[in-house]
Amino acid sequence: MAQLPVLIAGGGIAGLAASLGLARKGLAAQVFEQSKEFSEVGAGLQMSPNAVRALQWLGAWEAIEPNCVTPSEIHVRDGRTAALLQRLRLGKPFEQSFGAPYRVAHRADLLAGLVAAARSSPLPQLNTGASVVATHGAAIELSDGRRELGMAVIAADGIGSTLRQQAWPSTAPEFRGHAIYRALIPLAAVPPAIANDCVTLWLYPGGHVVHYAVSAWRQFNIVAAIDSPWTADAWSEPGDPAELKAAFADAALSLAELIAAPPNWLRWAGADLAPRANWTRGPLALAGDAAHATLPYLAQGAAMALEDACILAASLGRDTDVAGALAHYEHERRPRTARIQLASRRLAGLYHARGVTALARNAALKLAPADHLLRRYGWIYDWRPPE
Ligand SMILES: Cc1cc2nc3c(=O)[nH]c(=O)nc-3n(C[C@H](O)[C@H](O)[C@H](O)COP(=O)(O)OP(=O)(O)OC[C@H]3O[C@@H](n4cnc5c(N)ncnc54)[C@H](O)[C@@H]3O)c2cc1C
Repeated sequence: MAQLPVLIAGGGIAGLAASLGLARKGLAAQVFEQSKEFSEVGAGLQMSPNAVRALQWLGAWEAIEPNCVTPSEIHVRDGRTAALLQRLRLGKPFEQSFGAPYRVAHRADLLAGLVAAARSSPLPQLNTGASVVATHGAAIELSDGRRELGMAVIAADGIGSTLRQQAWPSTAPEFRGHAIYRALIPLAAVPPAIANDCVTLWLYPGGHVVHYAVSAWRQFNIVAAIDSPWTADAWSEPGDPAELKAAFADAALSLAELIAAPPNWLRWAGADLAPRANWTRGPLALAGDAAHATLPYLAQGAAMALEDACILAASLGRDTDVAGALAHYEHERRPRTARIQLASRRLAGLYHARGVTALARNAALKLAPADHLLRRYGWIYDWRPPE
């Protein structure tokens, strides 16, 4: 009998990447995505060296790189004075130091590249308009009543994962008191005082802003997070420009001009999961945000989903005992993702600090040698895919 496919609930970054990793190991996968099309929604994502290495291992980097942007530097600025607090160079020395480049991309371009790579391989089968409602052992049930049987089920159905909440009740996302606004404007509409070839992080009392060019320099991505009790489950709620303007009322002129530039904003409510004690049960495993949703402040949500895909595929490719392979995957991934989840939470407090804490943070940033600061991220960037 032919080997059954791995069934993957969710065709986001984790699900599509997992199907590619499994194909690399000669394993067939069926991806079930609830949306009618693979979602072209979202904003910028940072492709740190670990994410690039994962994409190379998955065989998707060639499809994705042409639409990425190579920023020249990362700038950290005080949002009230525009003072430059830190400057990290991203060119050749960075690539030599970490063994892979640092790129930025639009989520839609990353997803499109993963879809293209999956479609060019005979092993992954992609199904859209297919909502998974339940799992029973290694079988899934779709909303139209169909049942499919596989060798394993991967729940890659995002932060609100239906399958996670069925297998492990009381694991709803935890809102962290942030409204995260995003907007895209044409590169030509960026105010002249803004360095459009850099990744810039502005630190402000009660908020922060990150911006960079995406989509092969065609568009400029702006993300602004503010302290706010607002909660909602959706990724694309309409934003209120007046709320944003009020939150950054005391911003430096160049930052204020940038915030005023987009005619429309979308927003989502910052949420994550507490690090989980387990992600696998028999033939079922969680991957990506379903397993370890994280606040976006270390810019590692997509990277962790890509890393999961590599380890998951390598584990299932190596071991014919499915439950054992999934337990190995969990064992490999859990400590690292938990560390990133907790570090991202801490960063929110630091980025949004006020008063004396903000002054101390700024002084420390100004004094820190750039090399030293970059090395602090070494434990994230130095990750290597399986041999
Ligand atoms: C529409 C959207 C916009 C986003 N925008 C941003 C952004 O601007 N910035 C940012 O940092 N992060 C964004 N993210 C999150 C980011 O993509 C993830 O944090 C990260 O890439 C991990 O990806 P994931 O595949 O685990 O989860 P996701 O990217 O959330 O993908 C999960 C996928 O599963 C599908 N799905 C959910 N339930 C079911 C079901 N029952 N059956 C079948 N399919 C199901 C969803 O439609 C989705 O395509 C966005 C996610 C989505 C879905």
